Amino acid sequence: MKRFFAVFSVIILVLTGCADKGTGGSAQAKSRSVFAMDTYMELKAYGDNADAALDRAVSRINEIEAELSVTLPDSDISRLNTSGGEPVEVSRDCAWLISNAVKYGGMTGGALDITLYPVVKEWGFTTGEYKIPDDARLTELLSNVDYSAVSVNDKEVTLPENAEVDLGALAKGFTSSQVAAILKEDDVRSGIVSLGGNVQAIGSKPDGSDWRVSVRDPFAPETDMCIVEISDMAVITSGNYERYFTGEDGKNYWHIIDPADGYPADNGLVSVTVIGADGLMCDALSTALFVAGKDSAADLWREEGGFELILVTDDAEIFYTEGLEGKFTNVSSMTTEVISR
Ligand code: FAD
Ligand code: MG
Repeated sequence: MKRFFAVFSVIILVLTGCADKGTGGSAQAKSRSVFAMDTYMELKAYGDNADAALDRAVSRINEIEAELSVTLPDSDISRLNTSGGEPVEVSRDCAWLISNAVKYGGMTGGALDITLYPVVKEWGFTTGEYKIPDDARLTELLSNVDYSAVSVNDKEVTLPENAEVDLGALAKGFTSSQVAAILKEDDVRSGIVSLGGNVQAIGSKPDGSDWRVSVRDPFAPETDMCIVEISDMAVITSGNYERYFTGEDGKNYWHIIDPADGYPADNGLVSVTVIGADGLMCDALSTALFVAGKDSAADLWREEGGFELILVTDDAEIFYTEGLEGKFTNVSSMTTEVISR
């Protein structure tokens, strides 16, 4: 089987463009590139404190990875996954993320389920040993999948005896929000970070205009599909073209799994972008709504609010929510339709 490398679903135009336009050249960007969480991360900040702030942000990224990685044996997540049903005291970050994961699991009718980890592992995602599991094995593994059986009491987390969790669906969004908070605490008024395509803007561009963030075309991931203009927001995409392998049957199998059957989610969407102030929420929902499909995604947007959506269907149509009107530019040949309240 063939492995395809992850491609970033979103790129930041300013990383290659001119963020300094309109500032008379006075605003000097400071930047850092980091490889963490199996992902390339780019951080960019403006202002007198930018260097120190970026150093603190990078330390925070490394701290979160050490706490949450499923592949590091001493992480909170590894201790939980080998706890045999006993309560485990974890970091504040880990407890916060797990309680949010349970909340978003409930909000999305179980489309987000962090206890899917044994199923994700069986397909070979995170280990790189890709295979198509047989149905009996999936049924056996799914019998231990239930996010609602995870309990969090302050910093103490308890998993059912055979359960294992993975926060890969929402941890990068949380991390980007943490990075934004650190940069702001250190007086950075303008900056932008991309954690493997998960983008978070700090304020607006130095000239006061919105950041212009491009979202990739899921049918041609090397090209842009649309541009969204944002300030102080996260733009987070889940797609079927990011991490996948081609099976011996010639079909592609991707890393977002439907908890209903343990197979890669195939409910009519090829890409879901969530735009909002809370990176954790955007990341959790990008994965969950990819699983849920277009109509459920639109319903959740109408019920909950606090975020906007760009959905791409497998028949190559773009649907975006009305809050993006005036901030959204289609640069692809796909047709667009607005989702209204
Ligand atoms: P998202 O859509 O945000 O998340 C998809 C991921 O969530 C899947 O890869 C799977 O892990 C999980 N998932 C799938 N379906 C569901 C579902 N229905 N509900 C809940 N979760 C689901 N990867 C490596 O290969 N090696 C590493 O060493 C490694 N270290 C990491 C350390 C940390 C702290 C984190 C957060 C991630 C790490 N990753 C690692 C994972 C890698 O970065 C993932 O590909 C990434 O988290 C998935 O993010 P995404 O934005 O591509 O997709
Ligand atoms: Mg996600």
